[in-house]
Order: sequence, then C-alpha cells, then structure tokens
Amino acid sequence: MEAARLHAYTHEMDEALSFDTVDAPQPTHPTHVVVRVAGAGWCQTDNHIIEGMWDPYVDQPLPMTLGHENAGEVVATGEAVTTVTEGDQVICHPQATCGVCRPCRQGEDMYCEASFFPGLDTDGGFAEQLLTNERAVIPLPDGVDPVDIAPHADAGITAYHAAKKVARAVDPGDHVLVVGVGGLGHIGLQALAAMTATHITAIDVKAEARALARELGADATVDPTSEDVVAAVDAITDGGAAQLVDFVGSDVTTGYASDLLRAGGDHHVVGYGGHIHVPAQDLISNEVAYRGTLVGRYTELQELMALVAMDAVTLRSERFGFDAINEVAARLEAGKIEGRAVITPP
Ligand SMILES: [Zn+2]
Ligand SMILES: [Zn+2]
Repeated sequence: MEAARLHAYTHEMDEALSFDTVDAPQPTHPTHVVVRVAGAGWCQTDNHIIEGMWDPYVDQPLPMTLGHENAGEVVATGEAVTTVTEGDQVICHPQATCGVCRPCRQGEDMYCEASFFPGLDTDGGFAEQLLTNERAVIPLPDGVDPVDIAPHADAGITAYHAAKKVARAVDPGDHVLVVGVGGLGHIGLQALAAMTATHITAIDVKAEARALARELGADATVDPTSEDVVAAVDAITDGGAAQLVDFVGSDVTTGYASDLLRAGGDHHVVGYGGHIHVPAQDLISNEVAYRGTLVGRYTELQELMALVAMDAVTLRSERFGFDAINEVAARLEAGKIEGRAVITPP
C-alpha cells in the first residue's frame, strides 16, 4: 500500500514526507484492529514531529508513517476483538493502550505504561490502512462521516478534554477566556458553550477568528493587536476570569495567567511551542495554576462524538488529496489553513 513517510527530521515542509510503498498492516496481537483510513487530519503536531521536536520525548523509528487523527472502516481484527467487526465505521483515539496497567485501570488512558501511538511512535494513518487496537477505536454514531470528523481523534478530543476540566471547575455566571480560535480553539469554544453556563470571551489576533468565535457562541472578543488585553478583559470580566484555555501556548499567551485570571483560576495550556516564564510568586499570591492538556480519555472521545451527533460541535475542515500532503504541511506552517485539514488517503 502507499504511505506518506518521514525519513529524516527537516524544516523543509514542502518536501517533508515521501510517498513509499509498504506492506499493509496485519493484526499480530489478539486485540489488534486494522482500519482502512477514510480521513486523516493534518495537525500542527505533525509539523512539530517533522522538525524533530518530539524526538527527545518518544522513540521514533524513522522512516515512519505520520498521521494520528484517523477515522475509517474496520477491515481486520485480532481473534480477541469482540466490540467491532469488519465494516464498522470508527474514529481512532490516537493512543492504543494495554487496559491492565494501573493508569489504565484508573481510566487514565493517556498515562498507559504499555501503549503505542500510531503516527508518533509507530506507523500512522497517512496511508491506506492503519494498525491500532480495540480499546482505541470508538464506533461512530449513525450518519457521522469519518472524513468530516477525523480531526476530532486528536484535535477535538484535546480541546474537549480541556473544556471538560473547565466545565467541572466553573459555576453558572463565571467568565471563561478562550485564547486562539483556530483548529482546536473553535472546537473547545463550542464544547464550552454546550457544557457550561458561562460568559465566554475569545482572544485572537485574526478578525476572521473573532468573527467565527461570535458565531460559535462567544459573548465577547478581544483583539490583542489593537486593544490592551488586560484592560479589556478586566472590563469584560469585572476583575478576572475563572478559567482560561490557551490554544496558542506562545511566550505571550502563557504569560496571561496572572493578569487575566481571578484568584484560584486555572490556565489550561493546550497549544505549545513557547515557554512559561512567570515569577513563582505570581502563582502563590493568587493561587492560580497552570494545567497541561494531553489528548483525553476514550470515554471523552465517546462524549465528543455524542456532541457531534447532536450538532452541538461542528468542525471547520478542508479536504485534501493524498498527493497534496506536503503542500498542506507547508501551508499550515505558514498559517494558511482555516480550521483543520483532512487528508484522504488513496
Ligand atoms: Zn493532532
Ligand atoms: Zn495500560
């Protein structure tokens, strides 16, 4: 089968991946599931992988097929698999876990001690077929098109995971800030609007993103290029927001915590690339906290699919043919993709 593979880390996005012919995956473990990929979301994390940013964190055997936001049809299953069968339409949670280590038993799927993550540490979904396991596949509700929703496998669930933490922490009437209304932010904003009775303020440098935020449920927007963000948020929230979800994660946005949150607030870091440099005393004086966001639980992907089936969360995405994959990488690097890009493998 054909697969788009990374052979060496590079900053040249327009020729990052090579089109190789490789063997189609087969189930070699009783819980394995092979999925014919209908749609595979392109993610900023793919750009980060290509640049080698994940090399210090995970063992990446190059050449490797990228693609961790996958949905499609089950085509083969290991002998122990009982919950899905050939022909089922599924979305693939990016991490395939063991189910029996202590974090798995606690429901902390992302902390599994014996997992694999196709597209990050094993071959992923920029190919005709993908190998994952039974725990990682979530059957799609009737009427949900796998190509439309593929990016929810990572982008959607990550945004939802942060939104659910916010939903647990807020009371009706509280203020929530959404920083960055792009590929993840526009999903997180809708999840917050669906799950909380809060006032949502979106902060984004792009006029189109602020307009989209309004359309998707934001009550107010702030433009950092023309407004004093601290003064604007102070006026809107009357002294600070209860929670802040940072879908950008730049040096500037990670600095917002102490200025924009009220006492006891959380700054959820979802986007990444920058560094957090704040005086430790800032966290002490108002007891604000930074919280990381790592994908989400299998059950949260089921919940997100329920929101999708109810039309409470819609995904802005654009489809691209398999041949356009390096063009997509270059366009995302240049900030020229609106919403999410979905690759349709051959
Ligand atoms: Zn992703
Ligand atoms: Zn485990």
